[in-house]
Amino acid sequence: MTKFEITILGCGAALPTLRHFTTTQVLNIHEKFFMLDCCEAAQILFLKADQLKFGKLDHIFISHRHGDHCFGLPCLLSSMSLMGRVAPLHLYMTPDLEPQMRQVIDFFCHIPFEIVFHTLNPDQPERIYEDKEMVVESIPMNHGVPCCGFLFKEKQKPNRLLREKTDAYDIPVTQLAKIKDGADYVLPNGTVIPNSKLTEPIDELPKSYAFCSDTLFNPNMFEQLRDVDVLYHETTFSDADIDRAVEWKHSTAKQAAETARAINTKQLIIGHYSTRYDEAALLAEAQAVFPNTIAAYDGMVFTLPEKTRSLEF
Ligand SMILES: [Zn+2]
Repeated sequence: MTKFEITILGCGAALPTLRHFTTTQVLNIHEKFFMLDCCEAAQILFLKADQLKFGKLDHIFISHRHGDHCFGLPCLLSSMSLMGRVAPLHLYMTPDLEPQMRQVIDFFCHIPFEIVFHTLNPDQPERIYEDKEMVVESIPMNHGVPCCGFLFKEKQKPNRLLREKTDAYDIPVTQLAKIKDGADYVLPNGTVIPNSKLTEPIDELPKSYAFCSDTLFNPNMFEQLRDVDVLYHETTFSDADIDRAVEWKHSTAKQAAETARAINTKQLIIGHYSTRYDEAALLAEAQAVFPNTIAAYDGMVFTLPEKTRSLEF
């Protein structure tokens, strides 16, 4: 089973408290690290989570320009420089934030490594990252300022080679990669051995995770997120305060759960708590609509398929 792990470093809204820092998560997908948002304490939280390694962090995705999602980025980059980073770092952000962030980084930080900026389109979903094993898509949010969530999806793994068959047909090692990728094999006498006789499907479904940072209840994203394994969705307000949620362009716990139900996810993780609420009440509100809901906390590690453990924070 390949690794697909979500570490919640911070899950509060707006204001850091002694209980919660603001939004920051790190995904470990096949030992590649991806940071989602970067709160002011992000680098300290990253260090505390000692299974995370700065050297493996090459991609940072910022959902939008509100400070509780991005104030830690210049500090983190500055520290990376002091730690001697030389590898390029990829930053993904909306077009309104990018020039401001460039200016702050240029003014405050001496960065000896290359920063590659990727501009997000906040109006429609786009594929923004791809490698052999996975893709990342942006998810347009509805938040009053340009804002994107992010959808991480593993690709279907290639079939497993049946070595007893490839040995029996005396197939050269140089041909095995092509066969693993789906090619048939032609024997020297012209006989075609179909791929289905040389490989078998791997019994492991691709895993997926959607991070929905700040948004009004947003049915526009349902189709893109259909059947995602795990959904993280903000729950800044209780449904009793839905008027305030609409005014501030956030969601209620009930709406997050309605989203989870509509897209047929397996697991909802709620977060982005306002300090005015007891999280247990928000969790109960969400679970009344979508029972398989858990409440994020700082230091929570969620491994797909469904396993939770806690870091020493
Ligand atoms: Zn916001």
